[in-house]
Amino acid sequence: MKGEERIGIMGGTFDPIHTGHLLTAEAVRDALRLDEILFIPAAIPPHKQGRDIASPEHRLHMTILATASNPHFRVSDIELHRQGPSYTVDTIDVLRAKRGGGTQFYFITGADAINDLATWHEVRTLLQKCHFVAATRQGTPLARSELAREFGALGHEHIHEVPTPELEISSTEIRQRVQEGLSIRYMVPDAVADYIYKEGLYR
Ligand code: ATP
Ligand code: MG
Repeated sequence: MKGEERIGIMGGTFDPIHTGHLLTAEAVRDALRLDEILFIPAAIPPHKQGRDIASPEHRLHMTILATASNPHFRVSDIELHRQGPSYTVDTIDVLRAKRGGGTQFYFITGADAINDLATWHEVRTLLQKCHFVAATRQGTPLARSELAREFGALGHEHIHEVPTPELEISSTEIRQRVQEGLSIRYMVPDAVADYIYKEGLYR
């Protein structure tokens, strides 16, 4: 691949991946003219493992099924196979090593997460290494002035805001609905729903 690409990164637990994730990724790709969106399922930190979480293999498989029909969507398992906590800054380094110096990375997340950016691991280094995209839904405006105070020009240049359609879907709700025997149709792609039932997940 050439070095001038613009790659969006969509990280998440994806337990399971749902239409909200997919719609957001596509809206950001379109708005920022990104060449590709890389979906990266996260390894689950030990302290979050209390609930009935699907295995990395299941989450990876569902993510592959959900993204297969979009030629601009790809899936990476780099965080699933890394030992210990996955910091975004390490993920960016691995991707950078593979793609070359000219590639621009756009890390997509909710506006709520961007407003908490100051608490992220090595956030200043991270902001130098990649761009952040706040997929703003109604109700969570980006705290622009606070971000500017905290990160200065870098914050201004490397934090982008993209309005995305609001879909009130969460993986939590999908897991609950499966457990209660309610429909999840149109909340996840058909192939993901089929996989959930076939593998008996979230029951
Ligand atoms: P859970 O309910 O288990 O917390 P989730 O639905 O929030 O799951 P995650 O895997 O935690 O999904 O989210 C991954 C990323 O997708 C995060 O950046 C999150 O902000 C974003 N996201 C989650 N739900 C939506 C949605 N409905 N629309 C757009 N983005 C979403
Ligand atoms: Mg969540």
